[in-house]
Amino acid sequence: MNTACIIAIGNELLNGQRVDTNSSWIQTQLLSLGIQTVGASVVPDETDRIITAFQAASELVDVLIITGGLGPTDDDLTRDALAQFLDKPLELREDLLREIEQFFEGRGLKMASTNLVQAYLPTGAKALPNSKGTAPGIYAQKEGKLYFCLPGVPSEMKTMYSEYVHPELAIHPDRGVVLMSKVCCFGMGESVIAEKLGDMMKRGRNPLINSTAHIGEVALHIIAAADNEAQARRMIETDRELVCGLLGEAVYGFDDQTLPEVVGTLLKENRLKLAVAESCTGGLLAEMVTGIPGSSEYFLAGWVTYSNQAKVRDLGVSPELIEKYGAVSEPVARALAEGAAHASGADIAVGITGIAGPEGGSGKKPVGLVYIGLFFKGKTEVQEFRFSPVGREAVRRRAALTALNWVRLKLRV
Ligand code: ATP
Ligand code: MG
Repeated sequence: MNTACIIAIGNELLNGQRVDTNSSWIQTQLLSLGIQTVGASVVPDETDRIITAFQAASELVDVLIITGGLGPTDDDLTRDALAQFLDKPLELREDLLREIEQFFEGRGLKMASTNLVQAYLPTGAKALPNSKGTAPGIYAQKEGKLYFCLPGVPSEMKTMYSEYVHPELAIHPDRGVVLMSKVCCFGMGESVIAEKLGDMMKRGRNPLINSTAHIGEVALHIIAAADNEAQARRMIETDRELVCGLLGEAVYGFDDQTLPEVVGTLLKENRLKLAVAESCTGGLLAEMVTGIPGSSEYFLAGWVTYSNQAKVRDLGVSPELIEKYGAVSEPVARALAEGAAHASGADIAVGITGIAGPEGGSGKKPVGLVYIGLFFKGKTEVQEFRFSPVGREAVRRRAALTALNWVRLKLRV
């Protein structure tokens, strides 16, 4: 029992009025139990479509979680659709009727006749009490598959899931284990990574490896399904070692680790102090570094020398250099790094200058052109980068992360 499908029911989820947040929340919960969601669909308020969705999902998985359509109005059809699908008639449950009546009485109201339908369940199904609203949920089984129908209202759904569905699934005797681990990479494109990993990324493999890319970072998710936790852990461990061997220094961390955190640890371990001088990133790099608790141990100072005057006045960049080569140039990146190192006494210093856009680019110096200078052990190196001009924010973030990654690579060796 390792797989689930989620079916979210409601016209409002298909006409742009509402985003289906229920499914993603449930996916996270299921994964914590080792149950993988292999399909999620959004279905309109139409009985036939709902039955078709039940049929398709039941051929694929062991657990179906359905949200929405349990209300008292004509467009709430989940109860009917489930009864037809199970081929079980709906029967009035007096105990549920009394509970619904009490819910209204408790609020000084009289139950509307439309609420009566909520007291009906397919024969043989179990009611899941709703402590937040009127509609009970439904738990039914057919041919070994489990069906949980929950309310659409997110707060009611979450409470009912946590109180009844999660505990039920947790003690199910057939539950296997699925573990996930993330390998974090920087500086290597997704397609190059896929090429290097080859068959390891084949669909249907166990562990399964998925990749997602975001502004220069690539995350590889290794998902292992096994009978027990120890076995799943071993599978993940083996794959992690293989991936690290194939990708080398492109791997900077695992799971929740971030580049600023990893760089911070390296600086601490090496007892080195960092300073940064930023132009186009406007303090983003300093923000990333100081976002890590304890960064005062290794971060000395940061300058946002956005104007030429500030570069000259605060960091001693020569005006002739700016005049001759321009503010976005190799010599100015070098001078920024060295200026930050000298002014702060840092062991390692970064200078960044570039064109974030959307305006300000030219034929020779297009948007996305960034120079990063790195001062370390008395020597300064400069690298030129031409990032895709996909947006100001992306260029700035990419530049700051690339600088951090360069610091990481320097300290690794
Ligand atoms: P009710 O008893 O309140 O009628 P219900 O089970 O019939 O509950 P719906 O009528 O489908 O649920 O939805 C109730 C509310 O919850 C609506 O505001 C709807 O937009 C919201 N909702 C329904 N499904 C989802 C979902 N998948 N994600 C986020 N919100 C949802
Ligand atoms: Mg609805």
